[in-house]
Amino acid sequence: MSSLSDRLIQSHISLAPQTSYRVGGEAQWYAAPRNWEHLEACFDWYQSQDIPLTLLGAGSNLLISDRGIPGLVISTRYFRSYEFEEETGLLTANAGEPIAKLAWKAAKRGLKGLEWAVGIPGTVGGAVVMNAGAHQQCLGDILVTATVLLPDGTVKEVSPQELEYSYRTSNLQGTNKFVIRAVMQLQPGFTKTEMMDLSSANWTQRKNSQPYHLPSCGSVFRNPQPLAAGWLIEQLGLKGHKIGDAEIAHRHANFILNCGNATANDIFQLIRYVQEKVEYHWSVALEPEVKLVGEF
Ligand SMILES: Cc1cc2nc3c(=O)[nH]c(=O)nc-3n(C[C@H](O)[C@H](O)[C@H](O)COP(=O)(O)OP(=O)(O)OC[C@H]3O[C@@H](n4cnc5c(N)ncnc54)[C@H](O)[C@@H]3O)c2cc1C
Repeated sequence: MSSLSDRLIQSHISLAPQTSYRVGGEAQWYAAPRNWEHLEACFDWYQSQDIPLTLLGAGSNLLISDRGIPGLVISTRYFRSYEFEEETGLLTANAGEPIAKLAWKAAKRGLKGLEWAVGIPGTVGGAVVMNAGAHQQCLGDILVTATVLLPDGTVKEVSPQELEYSYRTSNLQGTNKFVIRAVMQLQPGFTKTEMMDLSSANWTQRKNSQPYHLPSCGSVFRNPQPLAAGWLIEQLGLKGHKIGDAEIAHRHANFILNCGNATANDIFQLIRYVQEKVEYHWSVALEPEVKLVGEF
């Protein structure tokens, strides 16, 4: 290792505290770069090894195996900085910036376009990859360009068209293309009051309809459009069903909660159980929105 990668890369780091589910094992190797120089050093080290790479945002859409993740895990949690151009409405943010924080900051500046994100607990990078969205809006609607570090070490600007966005999908998923930064186009010309009211209404609606009191990953399954996964699960009377300490939420059947001591395996078994029941009764194959990482 170079002295910089030596300082940055740690071994056997517990990942459970870095996921919204609060479950999962250790990263074999782990780094949380704060800037481009750190990121390059971690990436150079990774390229010199014959090991897998896993990218971690806020861990709000991940189920990490109890057995952990082999190879290097790079977290973007400290890779932050953002800038609003208030006159044009352009927002540039590094991958690790929390998208909900930026949504509130945009609202305070009277900028429209991110108010759907007020309750979404992920990073800019995760939102670009997942095409995060709510209230009939999504990241793909406002993305101008994303800066991506490719596995061969080159850096490329990509447009939303190149990312082939559709519902909670981009072609970055399942690749090791690292989103470093995103430029988003917001609309100026609104008042702070208008945008704060809209954002607060979105936040209230979310708090009233979704369980925020216990660890989860948000919606576990993609909606098999035009149907809603939660409705299909609820009709089967599965709300409250538990495996170990993982439970299908009473407030929203598409949420699986960690009631305190769930393991990743409890959650995984409950996901499989729901898939089997829904397939049997509705002939619908539910596809997880949550990303399973490691061995199950
Ligand atoms: C309570 C709750 C409510 C939620 N509500 C919503 C909702 O309304 N709408 C919605 O869309 N989602 C929702 N989610 C899910 C989640 O917040 C989003 O999917 C979010 O965009 C994930 O971002 P993240 O930073 O946590 O990504 P992670 O969960 O860390 O990672 C998700 C995927 O993106 C990859 N990734 C992360 N960062 C990068 C990067 N910089 N470069 C390349 N790949 C990267 C990871 O490898 C992984 O494959 C909710 C989650 C919770 C816990």
